[in-house]
Amino acid sequence: MVQQINPPTTPTKAATPVIPTVAAEQGLAYFGGAIVPMSEATVSVSTHALNYGTGCFEGIRAYWNADHEQLYVLKLREHFERFAHSQRMLRIEIPESTEDLCAITLEILRRQNFHQDVYIRPLAYKSSRTIKLTLSSLENAVTIFAFPMGNYVDISTGLHVSISSWRRVSGNAIPVRAKTVGAYVNSALAIDEATAAGYDETIFLTESGNVSEGSSCNLFLVRRGQFSTPRTSDDILEGITRNAVIEMAERNLGIQTTERAIDRTELYDADEIFLTGTGVQISPVTHIEGRPIGSGKPGPITMELQRRYLAAARGENPDYAAWCTPVYPARSS
Ligand code: PMP
Repeated sequence: MVQQINPPTTPTKAATPVIPTVAAEQGLAYFGGAIVPMSEATVSVSTHALNYGTGCFEGIRAYWNADHEQLYVLKLREHFERFAHSQRMLRIEIPESTEDLCAITLEILRRQNFHQDVYIRPLAYKSSRTIKLTLSSLENAVTIFAFPMGNYVDISTGLHVSISSWRRVSGNAIPVRAKTVGAYVNSALAIDEATAAGYDETIFLTESGNVSEGSSCNLFLVRRGQFSTPRTSDDILEGITRNAVIEMAERNLGIQTTERAIDRTELYDADEIFLTGTGVQISPVTHIEGRPIGSGKPGPITMELQRRYLAAARGENPDYAAWCTPVYPARSS
């Protein structure tokens, strides 16, 4: 029998993607200035944003705390502030202020009386029914909907990740600091390629070859007890979870994060790697292209940070109360 000399480049673990269920036919949405049944929140096929990707969006999580009988929205204001920046980039002007959108979100959650973890999707877009290519003199609209969602990926056993053959879209082509709808074709191509090859996630390089980010998440590497993460000029979306991790690592673990250019080969040499994002939360990466990272098991610093982050997100740590907006009135004890 011929012995195999080269190690396999495909992952050793079968990918188990968790597909979130969007209850598209159920629930409520903010649409046309009112909260309406989801079935009424529909657009024409000639809508500008559907034809050209001229919209921007957010992804927000709310965590259910059974002991508190409370649903906490994580970093509500930060998400709507980034949403406002994304809108400016696309010349989307809507009458609703950041405060209004926060209040509408809380109202949607309250009316649906969610008692589980929830994902919230605000979307602002060019709503004119026209094929004219422009950003100016068009109508704009905003919608918000929410649905129950647990973990988006397996956050306990460690992800098998590839390096994408697709480069991260350059900020000189599409503004990457804004969460623009059209730019997500880049992410969809990359994650589709990765999952078809059996990986859980993928890492983009920039056009100049620096490590950028995951398909919808930021990346940290741990080496000799220090954190590094790609700098904002390497075409990343400035993640709200990324900022939360930088804050928490310093406050609770005494670890400083360096934002810098990171080479691909540094990834192979890291002690630990983890991904951060509203969807992935804090997810350990154990293999890159079949190569084990560190011990090939979720790293201890990553898992400690994950534990603290999830406790804070669920409203269990008063030090991080400012991260959490309660949806329901406080229980009278
Ligand atoms: N990068 C991209 C491309 C993303 O889509 C996301 C998810 N919003 C992130 C990074 C992480 O951002 P956040 O922590 O704000 O969810």
